[in-house]
Amino acid sequence: MKNTILITGGTGFIGSHTAVELMQSGWRVIVLDNLCNSEPDVIERIAAIGASRPHFVAGDVRDAALLDQLFASHTITAVMHFAGLKSVGESWQQAAHYLDNNVGGTACLVAAMERAGVRRLVFSSSATVYGEPDTVPIAESAPLRTTNPYGRSKLLCEDMLRQLQAADPRWQVALLRYFNPVGAHASALIGEKPTGVPNNLMPYITQVAAGAHPYLRVFGNDYPTIDGTGVRDYIHVVDLAQGHLAALHYLLEEGRGITANLGTGSGVSVLQLVAAFTQATGVTIPLQILERRPGDVASCFAATEQAWEALRWRAQLSLQAMCADAWRWECSRAAAGASHG
Ligand code: NAD
Ligand code: UDP
Repeated sequence: MKNTILITGGTGFIGSHTAVELMQSGWRVIVLDNLCNSEPDVIERIAAIGASRPHFVAGDVRDAALLDQLFASHTITAVMHFAGLKSVGESWQQAAHYLDNNVGGTACLVAAMERAGVRRLVFSSSATVYGEPDTVPIAESAPLRTTNPYGRSKLLCEDMLRQLQAADPRWQVALLRYFNPVGAHASALIGEKPTGVPNNLMPYITQVAAGAHPYLRVFGNDYPTIDGTGVRDYIHVVDLAQGHLAALHYLLEEGRGITANLGTGSGVSVLQLVAAFTQATGVTIPLQILERRPGDVASCFAATEQAWEALRWRAQLSLQAMCADAWRWECSRAAAGASHG
């Protein structure tokens, strides 16, 4: 049996898939989550897929005493820090809350790790730190800038973690910049739980397919892209989860930190994603073209060389698999009365 990984935010979308992949490769997993955006039954669902049950602690990453107790009672090899708030729109309404939760939470976690002498961290960053990119594909060396309080909170965390490594080389931090995670576990036991009407494209498409909305609102068809609609780098959440294992191995083997994009490197337009969804599921998605959504960039996709050269990781799963798995998850949620997370 290998050692233990602490996953903050481990009942959420990406953390739960990463917990499964870690346990399937022999790691013990402790999940710490305050359940502000997930349900506790995700633990049973992870267990049903992963063959063992993660140890679950209901709590907040800003609770220093709880963190000290956790580090004192377990031998933890590394922390994967997913816990955070992620809605761009909400971050404009609740800017102070986003700072407190995302930046304050990360600072509190890092301080507890320092007290415990655990200095390996895999951090959930985002392509949002590139803001409006000058060129695509976007390399890790591209200028960092943000366009909203959520993005700023991620960039502040990155800055804090870069400083930490520069000041004390015992710290090994993987800053992983996710592009557009979609899909769900093939078992349809875990997936994304959007709150209210989804802002993101894939969950909106699956809800249109399920009849919850009459049509997909396409935000702009006059961008300088292949068909005028916005282009993004959609990545299957299981591929993304496996990227975390690759980053963990890098920290353990190389003994130093890394910054890496986790994307496929392929740009896909809104209309291309809709076509792939129909091809994968047989469900037609009615569309209505609307104005551009304020703050959207035309095109955003990853340069993937760094992830391949350093981590030996690249995304494997197709757009078809992303669509089919997202749809299977939506159907399973509908069957369960949309009650599970
Ligand atoms: P999610 O909301 O599904 O999961 C986050 C989890 O963290 C939730 O279960 C929530 O209850 C928990 N949490 C939040 N604040 C907490 C706190 N203070 N203490 C303990 N638990 C807390 O989101 P996700 O999509 O799985 O995203 C995970 C991480 O990846 C986030 O940091 C997010 O910003 C980042 N990210 C996500 C995306 C995306 O599109 N999903 C893209 C880029 C980056
Ligand atoms: N989009 C859309 N309709 C929606 C949601 C999104 O046309 O209901 C478009 C959006 O304008 C962008 C792309 O889909 O071009 C991806 O949007 P999403 O919010 O999923 O990701 P982000 O823009 O945050 O990368």
